[in-house]
Amino acid sequence: MSSATMFGLIEGAGHVAWLLGATFAAGFFASCLFSTEPKVLSEKAGLSQRPVDLDDLTGALSRGAFLDRLELQMRMIRDAESRNQAPPELTLLLIDVDRFKQLNDGFGHSTGDDVLVELVKQAQTRPGWQIGRLGGDEFAVLVAGHDHRELGNNVAAYCADLRDALHRRKGILAFSGVTVGAASAPMNASFADELLKLTDLALYQGKKENRGGLTFFNPEMREEYGRARQVARDLKAAVLLDEFQLHYQPIVSREGELASFEALLRWKHPLSGMIPPDQFIPIAEQSGIIDRLGAWVLRRACEDLKSGVIETVAVNISGAQFRHGELPDQILKILREEGVKADKFILEITETALISATPFVLEQIKALRQLGFRIALDDFGTGNNSFNMFRSIPVDIVKIDKSYSQGMATDPIAQVFVTAVCQVCKTLGICVVMEGVETEEQHSLALLAGADRIQGYLIGKPAALRDIPSRRRSFGTLNSRI
Ligand code: C2E
Ligand code: CA
Ligand code: CA
Repeated sequence: MSSATMFGLIEGAGHVAWLLGATFAAGFFASCLFSTEPKVLSEKAGLSQRPVDLDDLTGALSRGAFLDRLELQMRMIRDAESRNQAPPELTLLLIDVDRFKQLNDGFGHSTGDDVLVELVKQAQTRPGWQIGRLGGDEFAVLVAGHDHRELGNNVAAYCADLRDALHRRKGILAFSGVTVGAASAPMNASFADELLKLTDLALYQGKKENRGGLTFFNPEMREEYGRARQVARDLKAAVLLDEFQLHYQPIVSREGELASFEALLRWKHPLSGMIPPDQFIPIAEQSGIIDRLGAWVLRRACEDLKSGVIETVAVNISGAQFRHGELPDQILKILREEGVKADKFILEITETALISATPFVLEQIKALRQLGFRIALDDFGTGNNSFNMFRSIPVDIVKIDKSYSQGMATDPIAQVFVTAVCQVCKTLGICVVMEGVETEEQHSLALLAGADRIQGYLIGKPAALRDIPSRRRSFGTLNSRI
């Protein structure tokens, strides 16, 4: 094998280096890039007399040093390609600590720091990994090769070692894992900024669909990203252009008496037609539009309450609306302006948003409760919670996720779970709503399990205010008309 095509793994004393590239010099240079002892090697190579810039806390490469290395490596790839030689292959990983903010806020900055230090330490022990700190809790790794299976195994082993070190040795049980995005060069990109962007897209997708795992970039993500940006732009306009509607779905007592309505947001896009909330709420959350949208929902619900058709309304609050700490004040201001009382409202917050509820969020929930709002824990049963949650988080209502309505007929575990939730809630004075009841059988099973309230298509589908017949006392016979 000539030096021009040499591509191998060499283990030396105290470091591991890949030799890549066309010439001996280039190969040696590359060994510096993937070395675990960057300072020593770069001095040996006579490339720089300056010590490599390292992050003080973690010992990872600083942002500048890491980006320099990435830039250099990408240039070598382009050089090799322009000479029609086989280019070295590399993969960029972006590592994101799941729920890092909650960990930091809830358990103190020293715990957060411990996690970051261990994250880097574990990466530095993996042969050939070059880790840099790009920002607060943003880390990037350069690794040779682009074989998905090999990288997948490597990253899985890293994640397992990291979790083990933090859980077992450091006792940080609140650490839930890291999500990793990956893109490769020259396969996906030939320039550093492009590779970073694509890796970021992979991470973004991973955070949505593959938390705690590794997601490789694929070209469809570019379209998805473009679409999400377009939706975010359209959403901003939609708030101004009044393209939203609130639909209302009834919730009834065991006897079929109307108890309240849940307000569900609808977006009538001028070109795409009705867009369901599942498709735009996550984008509104990420782009910060959720605050304006939440305010719009509340104001519209106030106006609709004043119409007299509905008496009590449950509105959905996104976890992202608690970010700024101003939610109680914002809600109160709207109610004052509209002249509506807090006891007309139930605020539904999802279980997953509440799992990561920090003291900061809990304070806001308590404040809202003191103002007279009732709090409902939405989609209960979708996260990994124990019933202890009811003790630590002040809730008035628990809404069991609709998957249990569907599951109860065939799955005895679902039946046992729903019955247990109902019993625990009864002793704690919490009202249980069974969501997603579509059939008579599901209705009977929900009542048998002990649910206090029923919601679902069997009782009534979400409908515009004008389509809700006023002055109804019972929904038992109204199913098909709503
Ligand atoms: P959610 O809060 O769990 O709302 C219940 C969803 O289940 C609604 O979907 C409702 O139409 C649907 N549903 C009700 N009964 C049945 C049934 O019997 N069977 C089935 N299969 N589905 C049923 P929708 O309206 O598409 O809303 C989806 C999610 O979007 C909501 O889930 C909620 O998380 C979110 N969302 C809706 N409106 C708002 C809002 O104003 N603000 C926020 N932050 N989120 C909202
Ligand atoms: Ca809800
Ligand atoms: Ca729900």
